[in-house]
Amino acid sequence: MDGFKRSELRLVWSFSVDWFNPFHNKQAGKKASCGSVAMLLLNLLPSLRFQQENIYIATVMPKEPSGNGVNRYLEPIIGMLENNYQHASHFASTYNNPRKGRSTRSMIVLEVFDLQGAKRVLGHCSVRSNHNFCSFCTTSKADIGNFDWEQWEPRKLEDLRAAAEQWRDATSATARKEIYQKYGVRWSALWGLSYFDPTRSVIVDGMHNLFEGLVEFHCRHVLGIDDPDPEQ
Ligand SMILES: [Zn+2]
Repeated sequence: MDGFKRSELRLVWSFSVDWFNPFHNKQAGKKASCGSVAMLLLNLLPSLRFQQENIYIATVMPKEPSGNGVNRYLEPIIGMLENNYQHASHFASTYNNPRKGRSTRSMIVLEVFDLQGAKRVLGHCSVRSNHNFCSFCTTSKADIGNFDWEQWEPRKLEDLRAAAEQWRDATSATARKEIYQKYGVRWSALWGLSYFDPTRSVIVDGMHNLFEGLVEFHCRHVLGIDDPDPEQ
């Protein structure tokens, strides 16, 4: 990210997976769930990066995969991106470099999901888990009322990768289940990126948070900020 000054073109992307009803969201209508993997080029200004013609749709999933089935769709994309990150891709001729061509290298710097999508794509267990409900810290459900954030112990990158690899390399379904129950983690195709760090790069997106009213629901109904003050 140097203002395009070096000869190699370096691109940074956000990576987003979401599911939607292709028959629109009418309650009475047909129900189905398709998925898409969309990447936004963050080198572009925000006014350009969200335009339809500039969004890279890396794949479409015809139905919602269960368990870790999403990895089958992600592995080829992640493999391509990691290969490009390690070795760069060379275009023999470009508009500005018709003779020498130009190399480019890409990196995913943000993974953007709704919370459920994040859990599924990262291979983390559900928010209903007693000991691993949070993808970012090790707080257990028994401590969910602890609002002293300085006591929350962040998850460590090396622990997450080790647990995911242990799950991947386990030879039986029982062993995988045990690892999943203990650490709350199974293998995700995203670990194929050598620089992947879910403790820092995963965000719950603004669309679900703000436009679909999750923040409002949380403030009004979970935290109860509309409730009259019992002291008055
Ligand atoms: Zn947490």
